[in-house]
Amino acid sequence: MPIAVHTTRAGGPEVLTAVDVPRPAPGPGELLVEVAAVGVNFIETYQRSGVYPVEHPFVPGSEASGTVVELGPGVEDFAVGDRVATTEGTGTYAEYTVLSAEKALRVPDGVPLDVAGALPLQGMTAHYLVNSSYAVQAGDTALCYAGAGGVGLLLIQLLKLKGATVITTTSTPGKAALARAAGADHVLDYDDVPHRVRELTGGRGVDVVYDGIGKDTFEHSLDALRIRGTLVLFGGASGQVPPFDLQQLNAHGSLTVTRPKLNDFLLDAEERAWRSGELFSLVAEGRLDVRIGGRFPLADAGLAHTELESRRTTGKLVLEPSAAGQDG
Ligand code: NDP
Repeated sequence: MPIAVHTTRAGGPEVLTAVDVPRPAPGPGELLVEVAAVGVNFIETYQRSGVYPVEHPFVPGSEASGTVVELGPGVEDFAVGDRVATTEGTGTYAEYTVLSAEKALRVPDGVPLDVAGALPLQGMTAHYLVNSSYAVQAGDTALCYAGAGGVGLLLIQLLKLKGATVITTTSTPGKAALARAAGADHVLDYDDVPHRVRELTGGRGVDVVYDGIGKDTFEHSLDALRIRGTLVLFGGASGQVPPFDLQQLNAHGSLTVTRPKLNDFLLDAEERAWRSGELFSLVAEGRLDVRIGGRFPLADAGLAHTELESRRTTGKLVLEPSAAGQDG
């Protein structure tokens, strides 16, 4: 029997357990996909630990790539053997997953399936951050944290393609080297960030801050912005930001703060095709590097979560159902 990884209660990485499951059947408008790579994302750690409540038993995962092995009734746009990916799946921590054909992304030639499983969620996040949450212009200066992280490495590259100056932070020299290789102009540690940003910007502050760290960095983000700058708070790797006094936006210089999430930037087929199409083209043209920082057998999903939460990882972690060492 194929396996999936599920939780029966909230808790640490040990609650992620591999279990035998029947091979699912695609319903109307759905595709059955044999999974090649599952993207591991921070949100699954929030769901696993109970920060975002879920109903158990719960199979995590919204991102995956693979090959279509069966079509549900009424599917006309795909064929068995097509290579697909998604960020909008459910229960993708599995050897087989069922996807809505409407939300499946066709993986073009020139994009390997492991990259297609690693890129879409963090890539489309970086894409909406630079195009839609704040429309970056050539000449802008942006601050983004965790420059060697999954979103961070992609964000730096997309910001540079837009002609922005990029200031980033990392916690180790090895991560700093990766952020620089991705194109970051200035790589800082986390000490005294607002002051150092002022020095780098002639006292002005940055046009935009992309903050996925949350609790530990939010105040610094406000302090690093120029008058009328924009803070895009897109995550809480260090914990969620506590309730906030809106008067602070006035005091810091008429700032704008937004707290976006990916699904609201994939509203229809056109938006999905725009974002994924640009990203896949950049990869196929060799203009966007997708760093897979760790590969794990599906049954070792707990280990992948431990690594992600440990702050030791770089780039994207993926689970590979066909990898050696698989249980079941
Ligand atoms: P990363 O690969 O960036 O991993 C998190 C990084 O954050 C760490 O490697 C670390 O980098 C840094 N960090 C700083 N403080 C902490 C801490 N206390 N604990 C752990 N990490 C810390 O993860 P992702 O790229 O997967 O996600 C980045 C953020 O983006 C997350 O907050 C995630 O929730 C968010 N996200 C939001 C989306 C949205 O649409 N809103 C969609 C996708 C992701 P360093 O050591 O260099 O500081």
